[in-house]
Amino acid sequence: MRIDVVTIFPDYLAPLDLSLIGRARREGLLEVHVHDLRHWTHDRHRTVDDTPYGGGAGMVMRPEPWGEALDEVCGALPGRTPHLVVPGPGGDLFTQARARQMATEDDWLVFVCGRYEGIDERVHDEFSARYPLSVLSLGDYVLNGGEVAVLAMTEAIARLVPGVIGNVASLVEESHEDGLLEYPVYTKPQQWRGHEVPPVLLSGHHGQIARWRHEQQLERTAARRPDLLAGRGPQGD
Ligand code: SAM
Repeated sequence: MRIDVVTIFPDYLAPLDLSLIGRARREGLLEVHVHDLRHWTHDRHRTVDDTPYGGGAGMVMRPEPWGEALDEVCGALPGRTPHLVVPGPGGDLFTQARARQMATEDDWLVFVCGRYEGIDERVHDEFSARYPLSVLSLGDYVLNGGEVAVLAMTEAIARLVPGVIGNVASLVEESHEDGLLEYPVYTKPQQWRGHEVPPVLLSGHHGQIARWRHEQQLERTAARRPDLLAGRGPQGD
C-alpha cells in the first residue's frame, strides 16, 4: 500500500518511522511519502492561509497551494487512482470496519491535512470530481490539525494490511472486529498483589474458556458501550 500525506507540519508524521509501521515500511509492505504543502507556495512568506470570505474568526487554507500539491501528488503514478482522505470533525466516523475496508480495497491513499478553520471548500469540489474522496472524522471533538488523525488512521489501516502484523489471529479477536469489545486478558504471574487470574483460564478447557470470554465481551460491552449492542439478540448474536 502507498500512503501520501500533505501537511504544513511534515515532522508531525515522524512516528510513522517507528514500531510495526516503520518495520512494514522497511520491509516494503508500506510506502509512505510525506509532503510539505509550503513546497507549492510561491511568495516570500510561503503563505497557505488567508482571512475567511464572509468574515468570522480564524484563517482558512487557500486553494492554490492545495490545487498544485494534489495535482502533482495524485498524478505521481500514471494509470493508478488514489483515494483522497480528508480528516475533519464533520466527516463520517472512522471505524474499524472502515479501516478494514480501506486496507482491503485501497492500494493508494492520499491524506490531506487541514489546519486553521479548514481548507477552502472549492478544493473539495475540484478533487472529489476527479477522485474518490472521503471526509473522515476520528470522533466528536476538534483537533488542531489533520496530522494526529492521519497517524491514527494510518496505524489502524496499515496493521490490517497482510504481513504487517505477524500473528493474524490477534487481529480477528480484537475489540470492534465482531461488534463487541474484547474480553479481559491476563498473563503471568498467576497471582499479583492479591489479584488472581480467573480460574477458568487455567482449566485448559477450550470450550469453557471461549464461553467465558464471550460472556465477558457482552458484560463489558453492555457496561461501557451499550450502543454497540442495539439490534443484537439476548445472547449478543
Ligand atoms: N472549523 C472546523 C470545524 O469546525 O469543522 C475545524 C477545523 S480544525 C481546528 C483544523 C483541522 O483539524 C481540520 O481541518 C481537520 O483536518 C482536523 N481535525 C479536527 N478535528 C478532527 C477530527 N475530529 N477528526 C479528524 N480531523 C480533525
